[in-house]
Amino acid sequence: MDIKDINLSAELKKYFGFSKFKGQQEQIITDLLSGKDVFVLMPTGGGKSLCYQLPALISEGTAIVVSPLIALMKNQVDAVNGLSSDEGVAHVLNSSLNKSQTKQVMDDITNGKTKLLYVAPESLIKEEYLEFLRAVKISFVAIDEAHCISEWGHDFRPEYRNLKGIIDRIADVPVIALTATATPKVQDDIQKTLGMNNAVVYKESFNRANLFYEIRPKVNVDKEIVKFINQHKGKSGIVYCLSRRKVEEFAQLLQVNGINALPYHAGLDQKTRVANQDKFLMEEVDVIVATIAFGMGIDKPDVRFVIHYDIPKSLESYYQETGRAGRDGGEGYCLAFYDPKDIEKLEKFLAQKPVSEREIGLQLLNEVVGYAETSMSRRQYLLYYFGEKFDPVNGDGAKMCDNSQNPPKLVDAGDDLKKVLEM
Ligand code: ADP
Ligand code: MG
Repeated sequence: MDIKDINLSAELKKYFGFSKFKGQQEQIITDLLSGKDVFVLMPTGGGKSLCYQLPALISEGTAIVVSPLIALMKNQVDAVNGLSSDEGVAHVLNSSLNKSQTKQVMDDITNGKTKLLYVAPESLIKEEYLEFLRAVKISFVAIDEAHCISEWGHDFRPEYRNLKGIIDRIADVPVIALTATATPKVQDDIQKTLGMNNAVVYKESFNRANLFYEIRPKVNVDKEIVKFINQHKGKSGIVYCLSRRKVEEFAQLLQVNGINALPYHAGLDQKTRVANQDKFLMEEVDVIVATIAFGMGIDKPDVRFVIHYDIPKSLESYYQETGRAGRDGGEGYCLAFYDPKDIEKLEKFLAQKPVSEREIGLQLLNEVVGYAETSMSRRQYLLYYFGEKFDPVNGDGAKMCDNSQNPPKLVDAGDDLKKVLEM
């Protein structure tokens, strides 16, 4: 297959029904199909999946898609299988399958039916799968949520560490790595670990111009949040708390105050969790009070506010969590409550961890403190953190934060900027 003979726009229309590529999708796909390794840094909602789904659908053989969560894989497989008139071009290979299902998947791959094979890294390591995949035609390997490789990311998975060796054993094919985590440290880590130093790097801006960022001191926090939510009556919002206990307590407090809220955390049984999430998606409930367990892969376009009852453990998590507001481009208010005492608690907690984890954790916390205490444009600070320059006067969304609307007086922003540049 020669890339020059393919009309990518026609294929896009045919499979996805879209008339235009989003952002740099077309260049990314062209590079991948030309045999290059590609590294894609694009914010959540940017359209990363299509960058490997479309090329997989039009390539000979099967593309291996490494993905960290069985739930995410399942969603994607259903979505892809809904696209094509040939049924079942996407399959999963993971611990959720029984013997006969696994055999069926292997047969479909051998017969060339499977265009996309979603696998968890821990399944890929299995010798029997490795042997099998070595013997079939693989078009390319996609590594989604590639930040899972890095301890500097917000979702480190040790199983991701050895991917390079495994891929090398399976086939000599192009690799596309994708992530919505763009701090220079994580980027560097991903490229080194995957041996992708010659990859073409596509990095889109992480600026979310429609989001308003505000940090408030954590005083009377319960009252403040109730008041805020009452001022946004009928709108959808998420309140993040660090502990499950807090989630339960605060959801109750909101209910007592006449706010239509439900809790979500990993300690709830599966049925309640799914039910609460669905009620939020279906707008039967306005507010979800949740731990960080809530949100991965959830695509509700009209979340109007994201409140952090507790300051998150890293700016990365803060960015991901606030990023769930205003996906549709409409209003998105991001309000976080900051108390230095919370940082001390987190530090104490880190003190019990192994040294390397502790050091990384402390550094990430320092960056959060810097952000919370800065007097400069929050957007500028966040984007510097992602290795991006931002003009706090004329940039897109420049006025959309507390500090830019009411500049704190008598503070020299120069020092803060220097600090963030040194990170
Ligand atoms: P990401 O993985 O980067 O967070 P997704 O791949 O989930 O983003 O895509 C986000 C949304 O954008 C999806 O609803 C997808 O259908 C849509 N999308 C992707 N590419 C296009 C396109 N070219 N035109 C219109 N919508 C697109
Ligand atoms: Mg994605």
